[in-house]
Amino acid sequence: MRALVWHGKEDIRCDTVSDPEVEDPRDAIIKVTSCAICGSDLHLFHNLVPAMLPGDIMGHETMGEVVEVGSEAKGKLKKGDRVVIPFTIQCGECDQCRKGNFSVCQRTNRKANFGDAAFGHRTAGLFGYTHLTGGYPGGQAEYLRVPFADTTHVKVPDGIDDEKLLFLSDILPTGWQAAVQADIQPGDTVAIWGCGPVGQMAIRSAILLGAEQIVAIDRAKQMLMAENDRPHVLREMIYVCRPAGTISIIGVYLGLVDKIPMGQAMNKGLTFRMAQAHVPRWTGDLLRRIEDGQIDPSFVITHKADLSQGPEMYAKFRDKADGCIKVMLQP
Ligand SMILES: [Zn+2]
Ligand SMILES: [Zn+2]
Repeated sequence: MRALVWHGKEDIRCDTVSDPEVEDPRDAIIKVTSCAICGSDLHLFHNLVPAMLPGDIMGHETMGEVVEVGSEAKGKLKKGDRVVIPFTIQCGECDQCRKGNFSVCQRTNRKANFGDAAFGHRTAGLFGYTHLTGGYPGGQAEYLRVPFADTTHVKVPDGIDDEKLLFLSDILPTGWQAAVQADIQPGDTVAIWGCGPVGQMAIRSAILLGAEQIVAIDRAKQMLMAENDRPHVLREMIYVCRPAGTISIIGVYLGLVDKIPMGQAMNKGLTFRMAQAHVPRWTGDLLRRIEDGQIDPSFVITHKADLSQGPEMYAKFRDKADGCIKVMLQP
């Protein structure tokens, strides 16, 4: 099959690789109908995230049709089902999954020791996202092996375009969780730092949750992703948040941040909430809101291309050339 393969810094190619196969009874294989390039893929593209290896297949925003099902996933999935695949792989059985904390599933990161050293604990396994998070092949490909497929899927109905459903995989629930974590009350003013695709979803989500006024903040340095972890954003949030307000953090913080004004945070009585998105916690509700027409996440798509054009689309997305905000690829 064809797949977008990481070869090194700013070197992603559309290669021919072997088709995935069912390796475990809980696996399924999907034929990818659509996938997208995420802002966090650019961190891999720039080689800012450790533990990528040449040959790794990119991509964690993917949907498609089930073409093969392992014996233990058969009760939940069958050939022909249309599914969106969450970027986090979840077992559905561990203590964290049972509490709905899917992005810290205790069982799906098969290289947990890597994550232990970097993050102090294991994260869930993630598709197409470094060996710190399991080194699972991603979905910017013609086919994807979905481990723990009996729980790692969102079934979606026919009759709604891929464009409207694809972002249930990541950016819609991520933006939604950012807004939910902020504990928005009707009439609140909400400030949102970062107006890329996730920020756009967070803005729509905050409106749906009753925010009266939204202040959207962005700047060239972030738009260009010239920085990795962003202490100045955290500092600004603490400075401008009202006393007893809530700071909600979502996104790619991987290392250390410096000079955080904890005295101000403490004495303003701020609440901090942060997590990678617990995707399936939100997808049932969000799918219903898409079906109702309350939200249509397809508005962020600026470019559609064939999978084989993936390498050029990465470069275009990196350069923000041609108004590029979100790229959807179809094999
Ligand atoms: Zn993403
Ligand atoms: Zn789990």
